[in-house]
Amino acid sequence: MESAADLKALKQKKCVGEEKNASCMKGVSEAVCENASKFTGHLKTVTKHKYEVMKNCFKAGLYYQGLVHDLSKYSPSEFIRGVKYYQGDRSPNDAERRATGVSRAWLHHKGRNKHHFEYWIDYDLSAGGKMAGLEMPVIYLVEMVCDRIAASKTYMKEAYTDSAPLEYFEHSKGKYFMNPKTEKMLRKLLTMLAEDGEDDLFAYMRYVLVRKYRKQRGRRLVEEMKGALHGQI
Ligand SMILES: [Zn+2]
Ligand SMILES: [Zn+2]
Repeated sequence: MESAADLKALKQKKCVGEEKNASCMKGVSEAVCENASKFTGHLKTVTKHKYEVMKNCFKAGLYYQGLVHDLSKYSPSEFIRGVKYYQGDRSPNDAERRATGVSRAWLHHKGRNKHHFEYWIDYDLSAGGKMAGLEMPVIYLVEMVCDRIAASKTYMKEAYTDSAPLEYFEHSKGKYFMNPKTEKMLRKLLTMLAEDGEDDLFAYMRYVLVRKYRKQRGRRLVEEMKGALHGQI
């Protein structure tokens, strides 16, 4: 059995002429097997995560978002790098950062997915044009909570408790640009999960937060239509 370094050398080696022997072919086939298992491993991880977040989003009343959550992970820009840096029990993004200094898969992902607070970083004109985290619309914040619960369960397995997402959040605070109002609401929801459990949290998100957001959006649309009609008269 070759070591990881031997396998890497064999993958780079061209098997031609005299060198096309049994040992070389064995190395190449092992390398192919390794890549195939990383491919299926990553495909399974992404699809399982999508399924778990979808179930959470449906409980929170977010049907469309539940269906399209993280779809960009199947795009070539994210999927190929996910396979290349596949870790099994951890996100491949850190492995890509360690190898190249930047995770292009993550840059692609956070630029297209509104459930990540990093999507909402922009120049804040009210703060003199400095870069800042803008307040997330509540439906994306709720999707972010659904995402964090599913990810914590996947990575912690049997060690997961309802307190785990709050502990992870408190552990990593201060490392990022998050809008203070978004941060306050995220802490409130994760504290509710830790103290009251999933059922109460999902009921609150669905019947209070999401419902209120939709009512306000409906009223806004009516006002906009009225404004447009008055403009025509
Ligand atoms: Zn995502
Ligand atoms: Zn996700």
